[in-house]
Amino acid sequence: MTIITPDSPSFGMAARDMGTPAYDPKKHDPFFDGLSDQLADKGFITAASDDLVTWARTGSLMWMTFGLACCAVEMMQASMPRYDVERFGFAPRASPRQSDVMIVAGTLTNKMAPALRKVYDQMPNPRYVISMGSCANGGGYYHYSYAVVRGCDRIVPVDVYVPGCPPTAEALVYGILQLQKKIRREGNIER
Ligand code: SF4
Repeated sequence: MTIITPDSPSFGMAARDMGTPAYDPKKHDPFFDGLSDQLADKGFITAASDDLVTWARTGSLMWMTFGLACCAVEMMQASMPRYDVERFGFAPRASPRQSDVMIVAGTLTNKMAPALRKVYDQMPNPRYVISMGSCANGGGYYHYSYAVVRGCDRIVPVDVYVPGCPPTAEALVYGILQLQKKIRREGNIER
């Protein structure tokens, strides 16, 4: 589970965050330098198959849209040209059977909860969930309503929580990068 706080680094650094305070694009990246040296020296590179599978997986996450309320507008914004999450291989998919990630964007009501679970169950493994916004995270404004689920994690297991009402598209992009980082860190072929 990853929680984004206001102190979290800006989303542009997330994919390269190696514990250093800032990313300088003019500096050579030691990882790519090493890769380039190895290629120039031997003409080939070796890698663990787990790493290759994880690399391919993080670069081709299809997201199942689950827009439930106002947060969905920011989710749509994240896939528009300004933020263009497809550059991370994060492409929308309208069918749960080919989706890897579900973004729960909005207020989840008791009436909708069985449908959400059904869609989640139709997704193939490994599957991931991003909970977007206060409503999906814990009920938000409607926490005390008789009709609202107090957090979508009561219905499906959540990997990344994106806070805010609504979270900005940048926050969602940061959440997506955090999910990729989590998949890389776990590095399991099977979940
Ligand atoms: S968190 Fe705020 S913006 Fe998002 S669905 Fe709830 S009320 Fe709407």
